[in-house]
Amino acid sequence: MSTSETSGLLNTLASARHPAEPWRIKTVEPIRMTSPEERKAALEAAGYNVGLLPAELVYIDLYTDSGTSAMSDRQWAGVMLGDESYAGSRSFYRFEAAVRDFYGYDEVIPTHQGRAAENILSRCLIRPGHHVPGNMYFTTTREHQELNGGIFHDVIVDEAHDPEADLPFKGNVDLGKLEQLIAKVGADQIPYVSLAATVNMAGGQPISMANLAEVRELTRQHGIPVILDAARAVENAWFIKQREPGWSERTVAEILREICAQTDGATMSAKKDSFANIGGWLAVRDPHLAEQARNLVVVYEGLHTYGGMAGRDLEAVAQGIEESVQEPSIRTRIEQVAYLGDRIARAGVPIVRPVGGHAVCLNATAFLAQVPREQFPAQTLTCALYLDAGIRSTERGAVSAGRDPATGHNRYPSLELVRLTIPRRVYTQGHMDVVADSVIRLHEGRKALCSGVEFTYEPSTLRFFQSRFRPLAAEPLFGAVGR
Ligand SMILES: *Cc1c(COP(=O)(O)O)cnc(C)c1O
Repeated sequence: MSTSETSGLLNTLASARHPAEPWRIKTVEPIRMTSPEERKAALEAAGYNVGLLPAELVYIDLYTDSGTSAMSDRQWAGVMLGDESYAGSRSFYRFEAAVRDFYGYDEVIPTHQGRAAENILSRCLIRPGHHVPGNMYFTTTREHQELNGGIFHDVIVDEAHDPEADLPFKGNVDLGKLEQLIAKVGADQIPYVSLAATVNMAGGQPISMANLAEVRELTRQHGIPVILDAARAVENAWFIKQREPGWSERTVAEILREICAQTDGATMSAKKDSFANIGGWLAVRDPHLAEQARNLVVVYEGLHTYGGMAGRDLEAVAQGIEESVQEPSIRTRIEQVAYLGDRIARAGVPIVRPVGGHAVCLNATAFLAQVPREQFPAQTLTCALYLDAGIRSTERGAVSAGRDPATGHNRYPSLELVRLTIPRRVYTQGHMDVVADSVIRLHEGRKALCSGVEFTYEPSTLRFFQSRFRPLAAEPLFGAVGR
């Protein structure tokens, strides 16, 4: 699909409301709007890190789509059916069958969440000095690669780093970059290629089937395995169906199987596509690797038939996998995100184009052009959004990128984003409108936000979770927002 066709898609959505949900609401959970004074005090107490706020003081929580989905009545019914046997529980076999059927890998190892699968995989395959190429980094994925002595190489297409490049498959691998790396370090120093579908850090951008096939062919020639980060592979499959020639008549379930068929294994966070509140898995084709992984899973997670999950969690994941590929469900999900993105973009707010699968990403360097990178514009904007309307978003910029392990310097990625991540089946169009109104209001008043924040506490790994900050001006951004 050409750039103009993608914008056409966006324009059609602009005029529409998002489609009515293919479900109705059976249980409700109250949320509360706070006063500006309450929010000011809460943010200060949280060290200007919205991740440290008590969730009760958040009105609309767009911190993550991870584990925050609303489970279906059938998933809750599965919770009651969970078999809590320590070894060989019935729920494990149902879970294993769901992963085999829908993803197509034979060897299935449950883990308590995605990063646990990454830990086990990285320990099995990475040795000090190894090089691991990937289509952009993900925080926990790269952390486990580096903890095992691996060196990460970003081989995504250049356009993925450009928020304005309105292209259908900004998650694609640049084959030239991958070939160059193989030529430079040698195939035997590359334990696997790490492929994400969709690419979280690029704002949920998909990889095309054609690109996957090209990566498969190149790695096959060199005997390098490909491991998929399948957290949002269903969302990726939906984009392939919508955007890639030749796939519109195939079902999302078929496309998902075909994505996986191009790879040798996958790590999965079932807290994303699969609507589970906890859970994950590692799946591979090679029985020897699976055996090695099962030996490690008992050390870090639990027996290989529960891997850190209760039987009821295994049931919820198995049921969630089946629901995730249902097309009215995935369509509503993607179009709700597009609706929010489009309302914001039409008001002239700079966002990453096109809108991705799970989030709308504000381009913080353009939004707060007057705040220097060293003062963390994205972190600053997450604070402003909370103060304005009690909305919690995530920083995905320099704070998340951390420091270079070799030099110790801050990494300043080209994308300095604020991610508005939409939980699945949780918020309504009314909530999306509150979010859009707040973002647009802040953008109109952005000139008043002229300085950012600095660290008062900086942890050494995955610093964004625990770090604390202070505003650099006495009445910072925050003056502009105080309504
Ligand atoms: C969330 C996520 C992970 C890690 O999974 P957890 O379940 O949070 O441990 C890995 N990769 C991607 C792309 C993710 O979005």
